[in-house]
Amino acid sequence: MKVNLKPLIRGTLKLEEFYLNEAGREGFLSDMGGRFLTPIKVHLIMENTGKKLAGRARVSTILALNCGRCLEEFEYPLLFELILAAAEISAYEDNGEMLLIEDEQADIMPRVEEEIFSLIPLNPLCRQDCRGLCPSCGINKNQQSCTCEENDLDPRWQKLKELKMK
Ligand SMILES: [Zn+2]
Ligand SMILES: [Zn+2]
Repeated sequence: MKVNLKPLIRGTLKLEEFYLNEAGREGFLSDMGGRFLTPIKVHLIMENTGKKLAGRARVSTILALNCGRCLEEFEYPLLFELILAAAEISAYEDNGEMLLIEDEQADIMPRVEEEIFSLIPLNPLCRQDCRGLCPSCGINKNQQSCTCEENDLDPRWQKLKELKMK
């Protein structure tokens, strides 16, 4: 996801807008069992402040993740902002916000990927109250119900239940 910063670096433009639309890198999310459902869209505004190049990007995409409880795939839309500062490759400092400029171009994808990665929950849930899979029969309890739990109930609880029924 490269942007040409030549006009900004050379001062022919003070501000430039970029609309980028690029497919997410295949394999980037596969460790987590996720994938991109839509391309990554970026609206980037870069500015030459006189001292440096500064940028602000709005990024959106839709991921598919697998629920940590029921294992079903679900949509996970992302929308976030990134603050970017661009530095010449010689002046690069690893402060996490810098972009490398090479041949008057900067690749913003590493920063975008880094942010996407940090926004994915460790244990993603299709919904907060996902009921997960039954540990005995394996059905998805969001879709069906089973009687395993009642049968596995501790006999003491069963007694209590019977008492309550009376
Ligand atoms: Zn779920
Ligand atoms: Zn069951």
